[in-house]
Amino acid sequence: MFDATIAKRIRLVGFDVDGVLTENDAWIGEIDDKRVEFKRFDIQDGFGIRLLRGGPIEVAWVTGRKSPSTLMRAAELKVTTVVTVEAFNKVPAFAAVLAEKKIGWDEVAFVGDDIPDMPVLRRVALPIAVANARDEVKAICRYVTDARGGHGAVREVIDRLLKSRGEFDAAVADFFAGGDAPS
Ligand SMILES: [Mg+2]
Repeated sequence: MFDATIAKRIRLVGFDVDGVLTENDAWIGEIDDKRVEFKRFDIQDGFGIRLLRGGPIEVAWVTGRKSPSTLMRAAELKVTTVVTVEAFNKVPAFAAVLAEKKIGWDEVAFVGDDIPDMPVLRRVALPIAVANARDEVKAICRYVTDARGGHGAVREVIDRLLKSRGEFDAAVADFFAGGDAPS
């Protein structure tokens, strides 16, 4: 469980993509002389993101790597906020998203795995590292997931967030009432 007081403040949870929503692999090759790149996403993670849809916690993906696979998966899950950062520092682009949504850093959770996530993790109310995060990242985070990125870490964070807020059962009931299939 997360600290309930902090969990109840959260209005947005940001996820790094590679190493958090995936196990950090990119399968790169060529088909008909065209570069292709595949990534594997966890379906239970996807259902967790579905559980948040329409609720009080927004979702943002923040990635430093341009990838059609990432955009395709985000579209399937109806994640509309996908921030692709050209530079290594994710803070300015993420700060712009928060400003647009009128959400403060103290109302944000972020899940990361590697050094480029650290400037964002240092600012948010609830910094979370995945089990496969680098040691430097784990050292500055409030929580470390039991699950690895691409293997349920995202679902673990979402379930813990909802349960810490006492909203898990309602989110499940809302899913069954809504009939909006997860991807
Ligand atoms: Mg990463």
